[in-house]
Amino acid sequence: MTTPLTCRNYIAGQWVNAASRSTLESRNPADRRELVATFPRSAAIDVDTAVAAARKAYRTWRLLPAPARAEYVFRVGELLQKYKEELAQLMSREMGKSLTEARGDVQEGIDCAFYNAGEGRRLFGQTTPSEMPNKFAMTVRTPVGVCALITPWNFPIAIPCWKALPALVCGNTVVFKPAEDTPACATKLIEIFVEAGLPEGVINLVHGVGEEVGKALVEHPDVDLVSFTGSSETGAFVASTCGQTHKRVCLEMGGKNAQIVMEDADLELALDGAVWGAFGTTGQRCTATSRLILHRDIKEKFTAMLKERTNKLRLGAGTDPKTDIGPVINERQLQRVSQYLDIAREEGAKVLIGGEIVTEAELEHGYFFEPTILDEVTPEMRVAREEIFGPVVAIIAVNSFEEAIAILNNTPYGLSSSIYTRDINRAFVAMRDIEAGITYINGPTIGAEVHLPFGGVKQTGNGHREAGTAALDVFTEWKTVYVDFSGSLQRAQIDNRS
Ligand code: ADP
Repeated sequence: MTTPLTCRNYIAGQWVNAASRSTLESRNPADRRELVATFPRSAAIDVDTAVAAARKAYRTWRLLPAPARAEYVFRVGELLQKYKEELAQLMSREMGKSLTEARGDVQEGIDCAFYNAGEGRRLFGQTTPSEMPNKFAMTVRTPVGVCALITPWNFPIAIPCWKALPALVCGNTVVFKPAEDTPACATKLIEIFVEAGLPEGVINLVHGVGEEVGKALVEHPDVDLVSFTGSSETGAFVASTCGQTHKRVCLEMGGKNAQIVMEDADLELALDGAVWGAFGTTGQRCTATSRLILHRDIKEKFTAMLKERTNKLRLGAGTDPKTDIGPVINERQLQRVSQYLDIAREEGAKVLIGGEIVTEAELEHGYFFEPTILDEVTPEMRVAREEIFGPVVAIIAVNSFEEAIAILNNTPYGLSSSIYTRDINRAFVAMRDIEAGITYINGPTIGAEVHLPFGGVKQTGNGHREAGTAALDVFTEWKTVYVDFSGSLQRAQIDNRS
């Protein structure tokens, strides 16, 4: 086994312990006997120092020209490339996803770095004619200030990169609070930012428990913006606290994503999509396919195909190249998935395959749950409406395209969605009528690319998007500038009217 890492906070250009010196452990979810890292259990006092460092650094960082800021981000991209394999191995050990997926996670960070580095030479505003003579009008993007970034464990490199890299290019400084399940990945990521040469205080890392250090950050009076990805429950707390303290807030929360398979679909293609969408990352993506809405004409056939394919999936440690499905993240999540199975049975769903915590000897030290297909699910059942975040997919049968869309929309969430059909008219109606931030036609619900907006409607988000140029709208304020070179007072709406 590899020697455990000793992670520290990174504040004002120094690696430091929590003021209390108290620590926590990060263990391998595929084998909890393996200690991956210890990390500081920080408190409000550590948050205070980090926010002060970020505030101080903001005074000069915001004045560095954006193309120069972008050069640091570019270097982060190059270093992520250099350490890709090392990061992927660590990620797989720390949070359980397969190595192939872990490499994809790091690659998303790399893509994000190069995309945002380019943005340093764009950050376009607008110029527009003034209604008055001899007057010039334009808009420029200005930074927001000190940004608190609170992230989950399921994409431990990609999600922090999605937030930190545009934040930095836009001229903000950062206090990053990673999930308690992935402190080692977060530390390695910050080591890369340090190696890229970022000036002191521009990025700060504070480890710890959400209810302690996350809460302190959200409540901190000198934080200007909170960008949060996590559960809807925590998101509600973050939003209301930011409302009371007048902070900008960007939220990415739960999903209950569905894939529709119509009777005219290419079933093999839809099957590939369903298996990847439902069981990729052990179903622990916010965009995971947790409902399969099947037209009755193909339901029986497709369900049999899905069952056969799911049966072949191999459970194991993410670091084992033969593994298709890794563990779930921790004991709490294992119990939560298991409880949803009890709920499913009580509500009358049929467990077609899976449904149990794995007890096999070679996996007994990890948090493994069998890949599970629930059949005969109806739209009002809790398993059809609530996010489970595990390797569980619910099948709902429908009689028509209209019913499929109505059921897809019948959840409080609206992140990702998918429809498999060969009918171009249905595809376009789906693009128009599905209530979700992301819709895939003939592709699974997962697979976001970094240059397109990412986020959801309804209870998934609060109107913002990450990635692409949409991220710039989160991390900048618009400033409107008028330059009057007429030499006299010109009153808009008055002096140019008779
Ligand atoms: P998950 O179910 O993914 O663990 P959470 O919403 O609990 O979702 O966690 C997402 C992130 O939010 C983590 O970094 C966690 O530490 C943090 N967090 C949890 N509770 C709070 C809170 N009350 N205030 C701020 N951040 C929190």
